[in-house]
Amino acid sequence: MDPLHLRGQRHCPENARPRPRPSAAEVTDVAGRVRVGRPLTPGAVADRYDAVVVGSGAGGLTTAVCLARQGRRVAVFEQHYTAGGYTHAYRRRDWEWDVGIHYVGQLAPREPVRMLSDYLTGGTLRWAPVGDPCDEYRLAGEVHRGPVGFAAHRAELAARFPAERPGIDALFALVARCRAVLPALALGRLSGPVARRLARLLRAAAVPPEAMRPAREVVRRLIGDERLRQAVLTRSALLLADSTANLPFFLLAVMFEHFRTGAWYPVGGSAAIARAMLDPVRAAGGEVFVRAPVARIELDGTRAAGVLLADGTRVRAPVVVSAAGAHHTYRTLLPGAGTGRPHPAVDRLDGMRRGFPFVVLFVGLDGDPAEIGLPRHNLMVTDGDCDAFFDGTGGPVSGCFLSFSCAKDPTWTERSPGRSTGEILAYVRPELFAPFRGSRPRHRDPAYLELKAELTAHLLGVLHRELPGTRGRVAHHELGTPLTAEHFTGWPGGSLYGLAKDVTAFGDGRHPGRADWLRPRTAVDGLYLSGQDCLAGGFLGAATGGLLAAHEALDRGGRARLWAGLLRHGIRPQRDAPPAPGP
Ligand SMILES: Cc1cc2nc3c(=O)[nH]c(=O)nc-3n(C[C@H](O)[C@H](O)[C@H](O)COP(=O)(O)OP(=O)(O)OC[C@H]3O[C@@H](n4cnc5c(N)ncnc54)[C@H](O)[C@@H]3O)c2cc1C
Repeated sequence: MDPLHLRGQRHCPENARPRPRPSAAEVTDVAGRVRVGRPLTPGAVADRYDAVVVGSGAGGLTTAVCLARQGRRVAVFEQHYTAGGYTHAYRRRDWEWDVGIHYVGQLAPREPVRMLSDYLTGGTLRWAPVGDPCDEYRLAGEVHRGPVGFAAHRAELAARFPAERPGIDALFALVARCRAVLPALALGRLSGPVARRLARLLRAAAVPPEAMRPAREVVRRLIGDERLRQAVLTRSALLLADSTANLPFFLLAVMFEHFRTGAWYPVGGSAAIARAMLDPVRAAGGEVFVRAPVARIELDGTRAAGVLLADGTRVRAPVVVSAAGAHHTYRTLLPGAGTGRPHPAVDRLDGMRRGFPFVVLFVGLDGDPAEIGLPRHNLMVTDGDCDAFFDGTGGPVSGCFLSFSCAKDPTWTERSPGRSTGEILAYVRPELFAPFRGSRPRHRDPAYLELKAELTAHLLGVLHRELPGTRGRVAHHELGTPLTAEHFTGWPGGSLYGLAKDVTAFGDGRHPGRADWLRPRTAVDGLYLSGQDCLAGGFLGAATGGLLAAHEALDRGGRARLWAGLLRHGIRPQRDAPPAPGP
């Protein structure tokens, strides 16, 4: 291995080229970082808003825009230097990486994410198709290219496993029958007798019993060949960060449906998502403040009445939305936390599984994506068993997910000529980083740095093996660890999606779900929960959580206008941006 890699963040002299200047159109601060939002300064904040939102991820911004579009003046407070949460991008020198968006599905005309994106941004957020396929699986050397479209995907699998055709047909039929499960669960998280009754009806009519059973169990019943099972299960394990023995089948079906018509990438990089949501908030007199950590949610008796910022500023609002995750909300933001009397919800949260922690190697390469041969689609690489790591029977590191946003974004080469970036993600056993928890950045134990170096070497090895064109091109790399994620998100152990989205969370069809109580309308009057902990992870899950929170916070007229506005965008969808040129 290149010893320079061990030291990290070095420019390889043999690859050195004159450094291109960042384009003037990019939004960067004086330190050259991608920054979205207005830094908190004295006097910038009004003392009263119609609503305040804690956290500016996909969930928080969705709620903020939905409320702003109904005329509410909303202040969003984000602790980080930039808005976006896991949709933010960061830059080192001439490279830019996405921290948590590699692709998003259901953006074809009239599909739910397209409707939501157009509604939220008025169509200013543009998406470029990733192409066909959007994922490639390399499973112990066996390559599968999951083509776009159920018919093509089914035909590809049946051609490779002709003896399994009946099982493949049954699998796709069951996936299609699970289409209404997520909407039924979303409805079930809303308050009010009508929503509850509708959810019960929908659940009874449109949720097959297999939907709530573990994905592996259901797939095993349908398919005999283990290699085919892996081709079907791997995406769920690697994208949902859990063993398919824990994940409910309906989430596997959601993944299939999510990418049925392909995948898309935000034009201009993932920071474009938050950037496109600023204007609607501002148009209604609100603002998205960054470097603005919220210390506490303020109560007036038993009602949420505003927030106290870490700098001591008090902001009053009759509606408080926490999009900072359930853990943060109940453990640190609600009064009582820190006084020795934790909120009762903390016990419930402690009883729920957390998602697995992960590492990401952010790689900067010299050369254009096409020149290096970087694919637009993602690669998923395993040793042929996607679950062994999560089940605790494999090694300390899972299979890998490789993504090259530079190849997906049609504006990349103009923004960063002669440069490419990649992200290589893998999950790690929680005990690997546990000894170093509580240490501060830049004061870490040498053993932590050694562990990072080992993992870096492993991930670079995977990159070079799977994409030989990257050899000798890596000019910069740095590894984000679970401690980095914990530092930025506050999630204990740095898990990927906060709470695990497993069969115990949703209920296995026989027992109620442990996450059923995590609803957008909380037990505290005027306090709403938004984001991925309301229902499901991913951009779609977090934004759905944001939409549900806005629905709950609005009066009847506001709700009607919200849904009518969304549906209008279903009738008149925006068009895609052209795809990035292929390698
Ligand atoms: C490595 C990785 C890759 C991913 N890839 C994809 C993908 O390709 N496609 C996809 O759809 N999804 C992907 N996801 C998932 C997706 O990014 C998340 O599920 C989603 O963005 C979560 O949104 P959220 O709003 O719920 O939470 P977050 O994005 O975590 O936002 C919460 C925000 O709250 C802020 N906050 C916390 N405490 C406070 C406080 N006290 N005061 C002020 N602010 C606070 C945080 O700083 C943060 O900005 C990925 C995630 C990761 C980690």
